[in-house]
Amino acid sequence: MSKSYSIAVIPGDGIGREVVPAAQAVLDLCASRFGFSLEWEEFDWSCERYVKTGSMMPEDGLDRLRPADGIFLGAVGFPGVPDHVSLWGLLIPIRRAFDQYINLRPVKSLKGVPGALSSPFADKIDLCVVRENSEGEYSEIGGRINRGREDEAAIQQSVFTRQGCDRVMRYAFDLAERRSRRVASATKSNGIIHSMPFWDERFDAIANEYPEVETSRYHIDILTAHFVRHPEWFDVVVASNLFGDILSDLGPALVGSIGIAPGANINPERRHPSMFEPVHGSAPDIAGQGVANPIGQVWSGAMMLEHLGEPEAARCVEAAIEELLADPSAPRTRDLGGTAMLRDVTFALKSIISH
Ligand code: ATP
Ligand code: MG
Repeated sequence: MSKSYSIAVIPGDGIGREVVPAAQAVLDLCASRFGFSLEWEEFDWSCERYVKTGSMMPEDGLDRLRPADGIFLGAVGFPGVPDHVSLWGLLIPIRRAFDQYINLRPVKSLKGVPGALSSPFADKIDLCVVRENSEGEYSEIGGRINRGREDEAAIQQSVFTRQGCDRVMRYAFDLAERRSRRVASATKSNGIIHSMPFWDERFDAIANEYPEVETSRYHIDILTAHFVRHPEWFDVVVASNLFGDILSDLGPALVGSIGIAPGANINPERRHPSMFEPVHGSAPDIAGQGVANPIGQVWSGAMMLEHLGEPEAARCVEAAIEELLADPSAPRTRDLGGTAMLRDVTFALKSIISH
């Protein structure tokens, strides 16, 4: 019997419902070529569900996802539903329950996609942002004092644990060993004088375990400038929750359309399912028209195949994306300056994979 993986699918809202089925078709085709199958189980959890029932997912939602080998998410978001509803009603509970402490965003320039940069190295970008996804600056510790008075103040604590720092750094170094063996750390130890020096200390300690990996360290302010001026300097970039949040939006913006960029929330130990979702959101402005670019969702699917232990299948999907984009006569959606529909791009990707 051939290998099969059970995947929980949450198309979500807006264009999520269009790009997810397209990506499933591409991944299924690729899986059959490489001798395995994907058993999809679909969940209609979304902001639209929230509008109807008052919750993004059912009470036992997390338990239903738990047995899956992976979670394939489209996008959640709906006009009129505030972002915190989808965040706290779905995304954060999933990330926490399944200890997805890595947020991974590959950033790669692709032939045929004009990026935001005019630098001579703009077509040589190939880096990965590794964001700490479980602690750091985004903590719930803090509060407001003296509300409404002259001496009113707000306090927000950051929490950096040794275990939390070490595990994200080890992930970054392991990843660098499979790539170009370079890790840069985003810090701000000149201004944030307790947590960031600790972050630096843990970075140096873990770096000692990987003597063959070259390291560098930049304050976040100059790092964002270098990202724009010299993105080709970087291979793996490891960052705290807040700095990683910033870099993981800046990175994809450098290399082109938001419709292309993939992302993943990973539990590296594989004790729990990891979640794969494109960088883009539900894009209500173009939802329902069949014009969304499916490539970000498809590429996120390639990251899922890689994580499932099917690297050759993942390469096949990525190669199909690269081939399609590099071909000036291939169909392109509007976000890439074309006039093609989602189904044309999906069809083209499938024909590249099957030839
Ligand atoms: P959400 O609230 O779910 O985050 P959003 O309104 O922030 O949704 P994004 O998905 O982040 O929307 O998109 C921002 C812009 O990029 C929109 O104008 C949208 O049309 C465009 N866009 C996003 N994804 C795609 C895609 N896959 N194909 C084409 N255009 C896209
Ligand atoms: Mg958005």
